[in-house]
Amino acid sequence: MNVRDSGAGRAGGDAHAEAAERAARRDEAVRGAVEQGLLGPDAPIVGLLDVVGIRDSAAALRAAFDAVVAPGTPVLHAFAVKATPLVPVLRLLGEAGIGAEVASPGELALARAAGVAPERTVLDSPAKTAAELREALALGIAVNADSPQELARLDGLVGTTRTDSPLGIRVNPQIGGGAIEALSTATATSKFGVALQDEGAREWVVRAFAERPWLTRLHAHSGSQGVPLSLMARGVAETYALAEEINRHAGRRQIDTIDIGGGLHVNFGSDITTPTYAQYARLLAEAVPGLFDGRYGLVTEFGRSLLAKHGTVVARVEYTKSAGGRAVAVTHAGVQVAVRTVYAPASWPLRIGAYDAKGRPKEGPQVVQDVAGPACFAGDLLAEGRALPLLEQGDYAAALDTGAYYFAHHYAYNSLARPGVYGYAPGADGGIRFAVVREPQTVEEIVAESGGGRPDALTEL
Ligand SMILES: *Cc1c(COP(=O)(O)O)cnc(C)c1O
Repeated sequence: MNVRDSGAGRAGGDAHAEAAERAARRDEAVRGAVEQGLLGPDAPIVGLLDVVGIRDSAAALRAAFDAVVAPGTPVLHAFAVKATPLVPVLRLLGEAGIGAEVASPGELALARAAGVAPERTVLDSPAKTAAELREALALGIAVNADSPQELARLDGLVGTTRTDSPLGIRVNPQIGGGAIEALSTATATSKFGVALQDEGAREWVVRAFAERPWLTRLHAHSGSQGVPLSLMARGVAETYALAEEINRHAGRRQIDTIDIGGGLHVNFGSDITTPTYAQYARLLAEAVPGLFDGRYGLVTEFGRSLLAKHGTVVARVEYTKSAGGRAVAVTHAGVQVAVRTVYAPASWPLRIGAYDAKGRPKEGPQVVQDVAGPACFAGDLLAEGRALPLLEQGDYAAALDTGAYYFAHHYAYNSLARPGVYGYAPGADGGIRFAVVREPQTVEEIVAESGGGRPDALTEL
């Protein structure tokens, strides 16, 4: 999964310094978590979030687009909540000037609980119910219709309710997929948006706008992990060209805002951030200069690239063994916190950090070993055949770059508990401070969520 045209390998000294600082903060956090008892024999797995890193990424995102848009251009960066659906994270991003992109009633509720304002929220799901649409319009949240049928529903609502919601249509420029099929949103047969290159589709979209003066936005999200920057830029260029055509046809600036989605690739191979938001914004400015000349407001919806590198899941090595000549470390992190890596290891390899029982980076010769999880199936491996300092009983294994789509996306296999999630930041005394983001789930909660309050429900039916 190599992003060839991203500028990878050309990262400057700043990128290396940033990477080294992030790694140093992470090492301190692991040691601090052990010293302060967040992590240990009775709390054998935690998720950790780097508050400084999250703030830095939010600032980098804003600076990257501020550098290329005409002065005064309205820009909303809406964090794709699905990447890290945790209320304190949404509040932290909100304070850093980032809104929310939501795709379900649950995600909308999380954004509201974090205090994200309706005018900084965008609703995008492909299966919005009539009630969800009604709620969004009542709140004044931006909505992108995913299909002609959904647009027909909006027709009914717009005719009968007053709303401040900016409304748009999601299109699929069908520019093709990236390295990971399941995450490629702009293939010919993608389930998302109106497929622009299908027979008659483009004409339908132009007409849909002409007939509805209240439609003012065009949305496309054509990239994700594995999609190269050049392909993402093509998706944006196609969307821009369509907006121009619609406005020409309408004879006025009916479309006033283009939502370019998210999807920036994350480097899971090292601590270096590549590609960067600045590289992407500069590429867009070259490829689609009209997008930034002040005639269009801009919405972005980045998820993984804002959070991935700021999360670490750390798990205690409960036992070690040897099987068929292979060293195996049995840890408490597996499929419940790393579903994609466990089920699709070739697409989603994770770096593993080795720490000793005191939470210090482990030294020593590299030994090829498996890092296994606690779940009861053979494939529950965080890493297979990985060269690391030999993990021993009581050590810790850390799965790096797991701040998005990992420990915040619990998979309840074997009724394994959701780990606690803690944010960390440097304290005034030079030490490290932690804040609870999410309490660890208790076994009582697992029982209650699993029908524990109605044990006779079936026997008495
Ligand atoms: C998932 C999603 C995003 C975020 O994608 P990332 O790859 O995490 O940046 C943005 N917009 C929409 C519509 C999405 O479905």
